[in-house]
Amino acid sequence: MFAIKIITPVLILALAIPIWRRSLRNAHRQRLLAQPINYQWRAILVKNVPLYNRLPAELKPQLEGLINIFLAEKYFEGCGGLEITDEIRVTIAAQACILLLNHKTHYFPKLKSILVYPTAYVGGKGDLANQPRQGESWQNGPVVLAWNSVIGGAHNIADGQNVVFHEFSHRLDQEDGSADGAPILENRTCYASWAKVLNREYNVLRGEAKKHHHTILRQYGATNPAEFFAVATEAFLEKPKQMKNKHPQLYDELKNYYKLDPITWK
Ligand SMILES: [Zn+2]
Repeated sequence: MFAIKIITPVLILALAIPIWRRSLRNAHRQRLLAQPINYQWRAILVKNVPLYNRLPAELKPQLEGLINIFLAEKYFEGCGGLEITDEIRVTIAAQACILLLNHKTHYFPKLKSILVYPTAYVGGKGDLANQPRQGESWQNGPVVLAWNSVIGGAHNIADGQNVVFHEFSHRLDQEDGSADGAPILENRTCYASWAKVLNREYNVLRGEAKKHHHTILRQYGATNPAEFFAVATEAFLEKPKQMKNKHPQLYDELKNYYKLDPITWK
């Protein structure tokens, strides 16, 4: 009897504390989401992220709210002597958060930190261990980026090459535990057409890459299905017209997944 008297309140507390913490965090996020960014950060967006200028008016406040949450929750670490500044944080956060627009409660849940090198770095493991890298995303670990590639990719919004879109789309792909080119889709019925369209397009790109044909999708996408999804994401946001024209079904799958229609952005 005595044990029950002690254990019951302990159990109630053990259950209540996480719920209470979650509701505090949600309330904090809602405040951040509704808050515009300050004018210094907006000036960074205008200067470094031309895609921000093209976003439809109703998406800009949403992006700013997502940037607030991203910067409040993710830790940035400078590597190779790089000192982290607001310019670096805001430029990376803005592009990463474009992938989250219109997804009401998604904030890269397993990502805690972003490591930033000044330029391409050598490291990592596997086949490419000794090759210079512009970025990578470690499953359940950090995203790593080279700052000069981030800036180059952000400034040129028509070349289908953007290291932040690339690495953060890998992040989305990794969230279900496997980097296989299929992120978590809205519901189960979406997977069949996703697999059909993306597999077909991946195989087409592999064929084109073998023949060294020029394609609107970077040939690096022919490496494996995970790289295909990342490369397709870059083209979807930076070459939407060409993608819609040449790969209409791929465009539609990505449009449904990202809940964005970049072809309409001015
Ligand atoms: Zn990749």
